[in-house]
Amino acid sequence: MTCVLVRYHEVALKKGNRPYFVELLKRNLVSAVKGLGLEEAKSLPARLLLRFSAGGNAEEIRRRVEGVFGVANFSFAERVPRDLDALQAKVLDALDGKRFASFRVDARRADKEFPLTSPEINRRIGAAIKERSGARVDLKNGELTIAIEILPRDAFFAFDKIAGAGGLPVGASGRVVSLISGGIDSPVAAYRMMQRGCRLIFVHFHGAPYLDGTSQEKVRQLVQILTRHQFTSRLYLVPFGEIQRQIVAAVLRPLRVVLYRRMMLRIAESIARREKAGALVTGESLAQVASQTLENMTVIEKAARLSILRPLVGMDKQEIIDQARRIGTFETSAIPDQDCCQLFVPKHPATKARLADVEHSESRLDLAAMIQLGVEKAEKEEFKFPE
Ligand code: ATP
Ligand code: MG
Repeated sequence: MTCVLVRYHEVALKKGNRPYFVELLKRNLVSAVKGLGLEEAKSLPARLLLRFSAGGNAEEIRRRVEGVFGVANFSFAERVPRDLDALQAKVLDALDGKRFASFRVDARRADKEFPLTSPEINRRIGAAIKERSGARVDLKNGELTIAIEILPRDAFFAFDKIAGAGGLPVGASGRVVSLISGGIDSPVAAYRMMQRGCRLIFVHFHGAPYLDGTSQEKVRQLVQILTRHQFTSRLYLVPFGEIQRQIVAAVLRPLRVVLYRRMMLRIAESIARREKAGALVTGESLAQVASQTLENMTVIEKAARLSILRPLVGMDKQEIIDQARRIGTFETSAIPDQDCCQLFVPKHPATKARLADVEHSESRLDLAAMIQLGVEKAEKEEFKFPE
């Protein structure tokens, strides 16, 4: 039998809502480990316990739990009777054959009725381990940590503490629409909002019929990678080429990118309303490219009424790249593609678009019809994890 003890930090801070958050975290964990022989998922005081059938694939369980937001850390643990002698015997058994020069015991007593305090448990079990193994106690840098947890009904011990993905359980902060290009930034932005508890619906604009499908294929791969954290995803693929052609016909070159962006926001907003999503997410980072100057971002965002969340706005490119590597999206983002934003645009777009000029240009367009065209032609795709 394999037990995993899951600990949460930030979740625990949400006092009044705590049962809701814990329940959500539990549900997400159950989705994450689907197909791996889960027999029981149970709330314990300040912990969640996942119990798997014998012969569970520990490597895969570990990988799956690592992706769940709201998990501070977790351990593969053994459940033992709440009796110190029995506990000690089990710990010594489990240590048989393990080699370590130093160790520490870290007992937590969630049940204050238990007759020994945590330091007393540490001392007793520590002395027994020292005698049996000959290893020395090192409270700071012990090579091996033996974590012991005494809960009201059960006791556990574990040798490892694996860092979780942190944040809040997906779903705790509501639904948002994420504008995802095939680039490096937007998948990182999506990840960061998911980590804050948002459930994402993805929207991608592609240059069909003027460009090939490379950006769509990349975005599918990126959404599949990100779905690991929210278990199901919906992606809207919006053909944007025809809309861009209409913009190009009516608008001077320097303003085109700003108009593309405003149109993207309007279409994304329309999809957000259908999906009952409360905000839009972009991968914009201040001053990274011409469309992301303070002036242009301000003019662009005025096209939408929903809030625009920009989790990367204050990050350096290098920080974003580092995070993209850690979350596994960088390699896919780095594949060359045909990005619709480069369609019909000049080398030197306006960096300080004025709202009056932009609105004047847009007055020549039938915006409502263009939004409708985008929404109607959008294709929906569904993603699942585990696949
Ligand atoms: P990214 O690396 O995310 O493509 P970027 O640095 O290339 O970002 P821009 O091209 O200015 O920056 O795009 C800014 C943001 O606008 C993107 O992060 C994304 O949220 C949104 N966006 C841009 N192009 C598209 C697209 N084709 N489909 C959906 N969203 C897009
Ligand atoms: Mg881009």
